[in-house]
Amino acid sequence: MKKVFCIGEALIDFVAEKQGSDLSKAVQFTKKAGGAPANVACAISKLGGKGIFIGCVGNDPFGKFLLDVLKHEGVDISLVQLSKTFTTLAFVSLAEDGERDFVFSRGADKELEYDHDLRKTLKGNILHLGAATALLGGSLEKAYGKYLFDGLTKEMFISFDPNYREDLWKDEQEVFIKKCMPFIEKSHLCKFSKEEAQLLSGKSDIHEACDVLHEVGTRIITVTLGGEGTLLSAQGMKKIIPSIEVRPVDTTGAGDAFIGCLLNQISNLGNFDPVFEDFALLEKMVAKANKAGAITTTNFGAIVALPTKDQLEV
Ligand code: ATP
Repeated sequence: MKKVFCIGEALIDFVAEKQGSDLSKAVQFTKKAGGAPANVACAISKLGGKGIFIGCVGNDPFGKFLLDVLKHEGVDISLVQLSKTFTTLAFVSLAEDGERDFVFSRGADKELEYDHDLRKTLKGNILHLGAATALLGGSLEKAYGKYLFDGLTKEMFISFDPNYREDLWKDEQEVFIKKCMPFIEKSHLCKFSKEEAQLLSGKSDIHEACDVLHEVGTRIITVTLGGEGTLLSAQGMKKIIPSIEVRPVDTTGAGDAFIGCLLNQISNLGNFDPVFEDFALLEKMVAKANKAGAITTTNFGAIVALPTKDQLEV
């Protein structure tokens, strides 16, 4: 079984207890572990795989909380870096008009330093680049670029999820698109939401969007479509793979469960060649990943709701 290294942010989401008011009026908050790459590492470990999280958290109680959660889920945290800067925090509330009120206090996650010695460890394994914060700057952004370009692309399987957050990029969409392009060019697999595929390609039709994004470089594209399943585009073929029917209560983390489950299956292959040659195999993998995403929507929270191996096999 190969290792899956998930690089990026782990952060605390403080979610306002009383929804329907803006943050200025919120009084009580629930503390939740978050950060897409941290969620993906948990998804992989909960499925019995080797999820490794590489990120930077503050040497403070919130950093300790995040590491405790990751450890509890079986994630390897030996490569996590600790900083004197406070752990990254996000405060979220749903205002009366349904808009998200959001305050983002970026701290330690941006300070992740590139580790040249890691190259040997990464070789032959899977690298997942899926931080919502990585392209916002800091040494984390430099590390992302270095891991991508440091000769590793031929030696390992690289997965990219742009994790576009409107709250963070609404005034700078063009910058976001430009920053994503090298990652789409160099990654073997890209996971997009429908909105991301449209934004990054400039096409409203998702089939056309995939064509544009393949031209940039990536060979396998999955476009997650919520309850409708996932559009898989690879090897010159496209197919919408349906999901299972569920009663969703909270969709947080569904995308992370999806990509975690897909990468976990890829990590169980002897080598990566079949994913570039066997469309039927990819279809099966995506169907299973859809199921992981669907199960996650049936429970509240991101990490808690991620399925275990047993839940997925039922
Ligand atoms: P994020 O978690 O960042 O919102 P995302 O937008 O990529 O990520 P979704 O498209 O909501 O995530 O979900 C990922 C996958 O989970 C979907 O492709 C689908 O297979 C499954 N899924 C999500 N919602 C449902 C649902 N209501 N019913 C069945 N399957 C679902």
